[in-house]
Amino acid sequence: MARLKVVVAGAGGRMGQANIRAIAGAENLEISGALDRDGAPAIGKDAGLLAGIGEIGVSVTADAEKALDGAQAIIDFTTPAASVALAEVSAARGLIHIIGTTGCSPEDDAALVASGKGGAIIVKAGNFSLGINLLVALVSKAAAALGPGWDAEILEMHHNKKVDAPSGTALMLGEAVAAGRGVDLGAHAVMAREGHTGARRPGEIGFATLRGGNVVGDHTVFLVGPNERLELSHVAQDRALFADGALKALLWARAQAPGIYDMADVLGLN
Ligand code: NAD
Repeated sequence: MARLKVVVAGAGGRMGQANIRAIAGAENLEISGALDRDGAPAIGKDAGLLAGIGEIGVSVTADAEKALDGAQAIIDFTTPAASVALAEVSAARGLIHIIGTTGCSPEDDAALVASGKGGAIIVKAGNFSLGINLLVALVSKAAAALGPGWDAEILEMHHNKKVDAPSGTALMLGEAVAAGRGVDLGAHAVMAREGHTGARRPGEIGFATLRGGNVVGDHTVFLVGPNERLELSHVAQDRALFADGALKALLWARAQAPGIYDMADVLGLN
């Protein structure tokens, strides 16, 4: 089978470089273009050299038309605005678009759904790891079994360059608690606490955020009952795991109709 031509968006970023290494190591995929924002330090550099795997003859450009020439798919870990703009291009060209970008607003998400309806095959996930997607399913089950009488708190820690909080994964875990309880996360989430907050209200789903060093991503869901506590944790040890998950999603997406999917669809967990 011919190799699938993939463009890496955010090629100069931490995840972009992990994606370049993963694609270069995959038999059935080929890096046909590399995109970054205008003025980024990566522009004009060879994508392989940036990712530490030696020259691959693909230089990073800010010109999406040029990067996408002949491409069949995009792997995109960038910013919400960049992902929304690229999804419109994906819809117009009928491309597979794997989106790992977090911090999207409800308006951004609505625009991505519209691009899925418009012809793009999108897989968007706040976390592409198998472990986290399994954890989401377990948390939902645990929250359903224990009920709102057990207080749910979600703690996450990431590296000191992360720009959004709480993490997309923490939000997925919060959604899992809410789904298990049959409630709306927005109506029960407490994103941070400070000062004289008063006592914890029953049914709250609390979030706490830590930032430091080069932590790839730690998440724990605490379910705290009277006299006992359940802690469900995941530790990401290397960004390669997200890249491997994104590639799995990409290969799965080849057989799908246009639309928007998530990692639970890819893993058959839905
Ligand atoms: P990063 O800052 O290292 O990289 C982002 C890259 O995107 C940079 O090179 C930046 O210049 C580039 N960029 C910005 N605007 C652009 C544009 N308009 N066009 C093309 N490129 C553009 O960040 P990172 O750690 O690689 O993370 C990127 C995103 O992926 C974040 O939202 C992060 O939370 C998310 N993330 C998701 C997962 C997951 O599994 N879903 C895992 C890790 C990180």
